Amino acid sequence: MPDGTTGVKETVAAVRNVADRIEEEREYLTELDSAIGDADHGANLDRGFQAAVEQVEALEDPTPEEIVQTVGTALLSEVGGAAGPLYGGGLMQASGELADGVTAETTIAFAEAYLKSVQERGDAAVGQKTMVDTLVPAVHTYRKSIEQDDLSPLAALAKTVAACERGVDFTLPIKAEKGRASYLGWRSVGHQDPGATSTLFIVEEILATARETMEAEGDVEEDARSPTTPDGVKNQEG
Ligand code: ADP
Ligand code: MG
Repeated sequence: MPDGTTGVKETVAAVRNVADRIEEEREYLTELDSAIGDADHGANLDRGFQAAVEQVEALEDPTPEEIVQTVGTALLSEVGGAAGPLYGGGLMQASGELADGVTAETTIAFAEAYLKSVQERGDAAVGQKTMVDTLVPAVHTYRKSIEQDDLSPLAALAKTVAACERGVDFTLPIKAEKGRASYLGWRSVGHQDPGATSTLFIVEEILATARETMEAEGDVEEDARSPTTPDGVKNQEG
């Protein structure tokens, strides 16, 4: 039976993997932000996630809720700009959904609470060239994959990454209507949104962490349906 401590080591591993990835992608994110912003997205996020890892590693026997809360606080105080309050505030607000640990159910609630918070804070809708263009399809796909298509959380995450990739591509041909990039108006067309891209990297690392964990435990195949469905039922979407 899951309790508030289910998924602690996976959550810590995810934070480390995300921080490493953001560090690796710092220059690339900066390049994207220099085209339609002020060239700080990579450096800001990197500083924030490095602080987050340090603070998470200093916690004693944390729960997933406390880990995510700590990451949110670190991002809120270290990242700045538009992304700091959106990423940091969103994580802080959504962390409570992990009070019963990390399960398919709690992660759906977490993803939805995070999206809701980002949209309440930033007031952006799909099509305005922001991280919301990645997040909305991601959250929708994750929930649908688990609740309607009966996929395992790992398979659902793989579909979620694919949805994020489409979201990132979608930002390229559209005009920015929120944040700094909106000052450019039509000149923002043809550029990929930095925040939508960093959101993809984060979700990719959550998937990579889930894969590592499942492999270590010799657990379910990625294209298998949820363990709660009868044996032999195959994923029809292939
Ligand atoms: P700043 O624009 O203040 O320098 P960053 O460079 O860190 O902040 O982050 C820019 C990213 O923030 C954008 O690429 C976009 O995805 C996201 N963003 C900006 N404004 C909003 C908003 N109102 N709602 C959602 N996301 C936003
Ligand atoms: Mg910027």
